[in-house]
Amino acid sequence: MLIVMKSDATEAQVESVVRIIEELGYKAHPMPGATRTAIGITGNQTSVDASHFENLPGVAEAIRVSKPYKLISLDLRPEKTVVRVGDAAIGGDELAIIAGPCAIESRSQAFAIAEAVRRSGARFFRGGAYKPRTSPYAFQGLGEEGLRILADIRETYGLKIVTEALDENGIDLVERYGDMIQIGARNMQNFSLLRRAGKSSLPILLKRGLSATLDEWLLAAEYVMSEGNYQVVLCERGIRTFAQHTRNTLDLASIPAVRRLSHLPVIVDPSHGTGKNYMVTPLARAGVAVGADGLIVEVHDQPEHALSDGAQALTLPQYEELVSEVRAIHEVITPATVG
Ligand code: PEP
Ligand code: MN
Repeated sequence: MLIVMKSDATEAQVESVVRIIEELGYKAHPMPGATRTAIGITGNQTSVDASHFENLPGVAEAIRVSKPYKLISLDLRPEKTVVRVGDAAIGGDELAIIAGPCAIESRSQAFAIAEAVRRSGARFFRGGAYKPRTSPYAFQGLGEEGLRILADIRETYGLKIVTEALDENGIDLVERYGDMIQIGARNMQNFSLLRRAGKSSLPILLKRGLSATLDEWLLAAEYVMSEGNYQVVLCERGIRTFAQHTRNTLDLASIPAVRRLSHLPVIVDPSHGTGKNYMVTPLARAGVAVGADGLIVEVHDQPEHALSDGAQALTLPQYEELVSEVRAIHEVITPATVG
């Protein structure tokens, strides 16, 4: 159930609807919008009786939601969500660029890359301190020491820190050192982790699972939002298919598909989405052209010595070139053309 308030409904009227929802034992999710506030209802096992709400002051209509998702939906919020990360944002007019190494390997490596990221005008720095590696013998990240390096980068360059939490304890740590919590592809359906992310005050970058359908991905975002954290950015990072010419198949059609259903911002990861250095820039261009709100890109000062994902890392000059190309593309894209 979704309660749409009249455009002139007062705050007190919204609050009184929220109170009634809570008295019924459900959770209320008020979403103020440009023209009206809508209130999502979750926590109900069976359908909610619309008659509880229809005649309340300030209520325009009570709509039954037939889709499996409620809070991510354009029905709840017809205009795009802008996710704020301090004084930076994802989903607004500016193309968001999140760049940095796959993993934080050392202070000097991280600072060398961060300096170039800052110089490019990007607002976000990425880098894993905890890495979800396929092999238990591969480099697992520097752990909390990596987070301390990231916090120093934030201090030095004013970049917002985006870094992955592998488990609930990891979320506690990222909350201490970072600005945005990445939930990785392998954890997209780790429901206890999603619920914990939903209780965080930091925004969440939710990567698409390796074999996740659009619905599964959106429902993972719904898990986070149902706990009260509405600051979610989706990230298309490629899925597993039979193709052997790429590490993953970057499903760029998911960008307009998300747009049609959801108000959440969506960005593209052309690094994991291809796995190959020479494909990253072309697919980044395509991602922006198809209407992504931003990119997350892996960059390394010495890709040949990277401890993880070196094959897909851009060199610093390649990264600089990518930024100028995608900015030019973004400038000629208008919301009308990416629908
Ligand atoms: C990463 O961003 O380095 C990463 C491990 O991403 P994904 O979860 O998409 O594989
Ligand atoms: Mn990586």
